[in-house]
Amino acid sequence: MASDPLVSAIRARIPAVRLLTEPIDREGYRLDETSYLRAGLPRAVALPTTTQEVVELVRIAAELRVPIVPRGAGTGLSGGAAGIDGALTIAFTAMDRIIEIDRENLVAVVQPGVINAHLKEAVAAQGLFYPPDPASFETCSIGGNLGTNAGGLCCVKYGQTRDSVLSLEVVMADGTIIRTGGRNLKDVAGYSLTHLFIGSQGTLAITTEATLKLRPAPPPRLTMLAFFATLESAGAAVAGLAAAGLSPVTLELLDQFPIAAADDMNDLGLDRTAAAMLMIESDMPGVAATAELEMAEAVCRTAGATDCVRAADTQEADWLRQARRAAHYALERLGEVRMEDVGVPRSRVPEMLRAIESIAARHDVRIGTFGHAGDGNLHPDLVFERGDPTAEAKTEAVKKDLYRAALDLGGTVTGEHGIGSTRREWLEIQRGPDAVRVMRAIKAALDPLGILNPGRVL
Ligand SMILES: Cc1cc2nc3c(=O)[nH]c(=O)nc-3n(C[C@H](O)[C@H](O)[C@H](O)COP(=O)(O)OP(=O)(O)OC[C@H]3O[C@@H](n4cnc5c(N)ncnc54)[C@H](O)[C@@H]3O)c2cc1C
Repeated sequence: MASDPLVSAIRARIPAVRLLTEPIDREGYRLDETSYLRAGLPRAVALPTTTQEVVELVRIAAELRVPIVPRGAGTGLSGGAAGIDGALTIAFTAMDRIIEIDRENLVAVVQPGVINAHLKEAVAAQGLFYPPDPASFETCSIGGNLGTNAGGLCCVKYGQTRDSVLSLEVVMADGTIIRTGGRNLKDVAGYSLTHLFIGSQGTLAITTEATLKLRPAPPPRLTMLAFFATLESAGAAVAGLAAAGLSPVTLELLDQFPIAAADDMNDLGLDRTAAAMLMIESDMPGVAATAELEMAEAVCRTAGATDCVRAADTQEADWLRQARRAAHYALERLGEVRMEDVGVPRSRVPEMLRAIESIAARHDVRIGTFGHAGDGNLHPDLVFERGDPTAEAKTEAVKKDLYRAALDLGGTVTGEHGIGSTRREWLEIQRGPDAVRVMRAIKAALDPLGILNPGRVL
């Protein structure tokens, strides 16, 4: 490896940068959390600490025509940060500084490797709130959240990651540094490059700094669980809550399989006979929160809820929220899990739930569904016996039917995890050839050598 021109150039031109070259070290960067993926082994892994080091890494890679994989915490679920044979992975773990919390303008400036939960804690200590909260928030990074335009549990009220971003500093494919905005809440000068780069999964530019929008911390949440005897009635409640104009901060769904798995893992005393459960939370001030949950309960009961229970206190609410976040891991205790990420308009959630049920039966696959029902974003988790030789073929068949069903309902093949490398053939089916041609033109203009995360998204 000492004679590898990439490694030699990096060592000569940026001797301070940490570089992993041993196979055993590089192996840890082969996969993201899409664990069933077949991915390549990076040729080298660099862990820069400054934007200037990133610039030099990109220049070297461009000169040598070496592909680059930007990587945050590697919790992605579409293979976006997975290794590519012969490529340089740039991991942002060591660029993890919160540079500034500007209380006057309600802004935080951070490096991309900051863990989402660390930013939340730091701003909470000043009475502020950074909303984006993927279920993986304790482990995923802001750079990865920007790369995927991550969603989460409170998107239903506060939007996806993009709704909390004012500006980015990025390194382009030729090593140029640009800033896409400032601290202005309103700024319409030119095209919104900020929004172009968010969700581009490292294929258009590399984020080295982000200026994020904060809010004053909302009051502690009130939490309610509603149980339903059928999936349809839970779906009808989701559609009913949207139609009633309610804006809960959390509107999450679990069907029977993840309810039981979460209950087994956390001993919560959930109603395991229920076909589905909704977790509904309000963070409105004072009595408004109680009023919001009362209205939500009325909608749920009209839709057929068999029981509605409130969390006794904030600690119990934290346990319930934690159990929802861990639903995927609860299912992983039962076998090998492959998570999907379909989305539909909220009014079509009941139909999507019905479609998932019939697809599971048709292919004889156990599917546990949970997700951000308030956004119409559902995660059907396919659970196989470990070592099941039919898992791969069945996954492909189920995915095809799930995606077709979502698209037929006016939905999407991915609500928040991204096209990455796992859903590429569906991009054109969903968006159409003309839209994909525009995307290819943008990619060619910004990355003419095609070195930024090739084979992802497009
Ligand atoms: C249990 C579990 C629960 C999850 N829950 C949610 C959820 O609720 N909502 C949700 O949206 N996702 C969820 N995810 C998926 C994942 O956590 C998110 O996609 C997250 O945003 C990825 O962050 P990361 O730091 O791990 O990024 P990575 O996986 O390392 O990278 C993600 C993408 O961003 C790109 N990227 C990373 N850093 C940069 C950078 N500096 N510049 C340019 N591109 C970059 C990568 O190339 C890749 O394409 C979950 C995952 C798990 C395992």
